[in-house]
Amino acid sequence: MKALFRSNVLVVLLGVSSVGFAAQPSLAQRGAPPDQPAVTVRGQTYTPRSILARNMGTEEDQTTAFPPHKVIGNVYYVGTKTLSSFLITTPEGHILINSTYERNVRTIEQSVAQLGFKFGDIRILLGTHAHNDHQEGDALTKELTGAQVVVMREDVPALEAMKPGGKTHPIDRVLRDGDHVTLGGTTLVAHLTAGHTRGCTTWTMTTQEGGKIFNVVFACSYRAPANVTPEIENEFNRTFKLLHSLPCDVPLGDHPAQYNMVAKYARLGAGALNPFIDPANCWLEAEIQEVMFRAQLEMQRKSTRP
Ligand SMILES: [Zn+2]
Repeated sequence: MKALFRSNVLVVLLGVSSVGFAAQPSLAQRGAPPDQPAVTVRGQTYTPRSILARNMGTEEDQTTAFPPHKVIGNVYYVGTKTLSSFLITTPEGHILINSTYERNVRTIEQSVAQLGFKFGDIRILLGTHAHNDHQEGDALTKELTGAQVVVMREDVPALEAMKPGGKTHPIDRVLRDGDHVTLGGTTLVAHLTAGHTRGCTTWTMTTQEGGKIFNVVFACSYRAPANVTPEIENEFNRTFKLLHSLPCDVPLGDHPAQYNMVAKYARLGAGALNPFIDPANCWLEAEIQEVMFRAQLEMQRKSTRP
């Protein structure tokens, strides 16, 4: 009797915990990061787990189109609810930043069409970093558009290992830190901002709106991995220092939550000012990630101290 009772309790507990995981499939899939350290930046508290949940949302959020919209000048949002894709239009064809998951490519294609542009006019495909949720769709996008795939040198090994359905990852041009990509009068500058991946790239460009010129920053993810090696520590130290030297009026990121897209989108058209022009918050995401990175390092050092 007693043994039976115990096993029933166990089944109930297992049942509860599996329901908990089912509610957060993205976390269960990737293996949830730890819920510590907790850091507070500008009144908001974050843990590694809460940041990943904020970035990824649910499985459905990752694959459902967010209403495509103009961000500023010739920059448009064509991604899903939690995975950014940006279309930069020019008279000589377009540039796409981040194909995201392969299963999202057709959704991005539809968002591009909804804005009145042709997916087939994409001439150049860029990425922020070699993780599947940002660049897995590169091969299919190239297949559909013939675009030139341009990547940062340090991310080449990770991209070559990314083979959805066995497809070879296309690489047509390899960049070094500071290299330029130009099409139809628009120039993007590739800044190596390593740490999250070896070749994590922050892209900058200028665009015009209302007769003024604005600096747009397409930020990479600056989230540190659970275990920070001395190599990664050096990369992040350089990255966080470099970021603050970039000119910025319009902060964007490879996950919409990094630049508060939903709230800004809701304010579109409500006033004279474009809500995406937000210099005061240009480095807020980098600040959150740097504070978390320092706290993680401190925790790591304490745990290895004799
Ligand atoms: Zn990533």
